[in-house]
Amino acid sequence: MEELVAKTELEREAARLERELQDLEALLAEERERLSALSPMPVYWRQVRCGKACGGCPHGPYPYLKVKRDGRWRWQYLGKGWQPPEGFARPRAFRKALALYHALLKRKEELLERLERAKEVLRGWEARGFIWGVGAPERP
Ligand SMILES: [Zn+2]
Repeated sequence: MEELVAKTELEREAARLERELQDLEALLAEERERLSALSPMPVYWRQVRCGKACGGCPHGPYPYLKVKRDGRWRWQYLGKGWQPPEGFARPRAFRKALALYHALLKRKEELLERLERAKEVLRGWEARGFIWGVGAPERP
């Protein structure tokens, strides 16, 4: 019985994390619009793979500008070490919004990780036939 309570609690936790992620996605979309509005050039939002087996790929989306350098189009990341190109009337407002956006992205990755862990434990319990009352589950 105690195991059943633990499973229900974990399912509730997973549902709560999913709701929080949905809210966060909405907030991130709003912030992307705000950042785009602050930029005099079109901002491109790109998902990025980090190249490690991190389990959370792709990351982002992160903001980029398309700039022509030496006659070729290149992606310019709007992030660390970024100097606002000419035309950014409010670079400080942009930087501030960008910092907030990155903080939200970080929170999203944390939530995704926790949700994945909760789901893994639930899957493990079900695979061992726990829902039929066979076998004792491990504590998460
Ligand atoms: Zn990654």
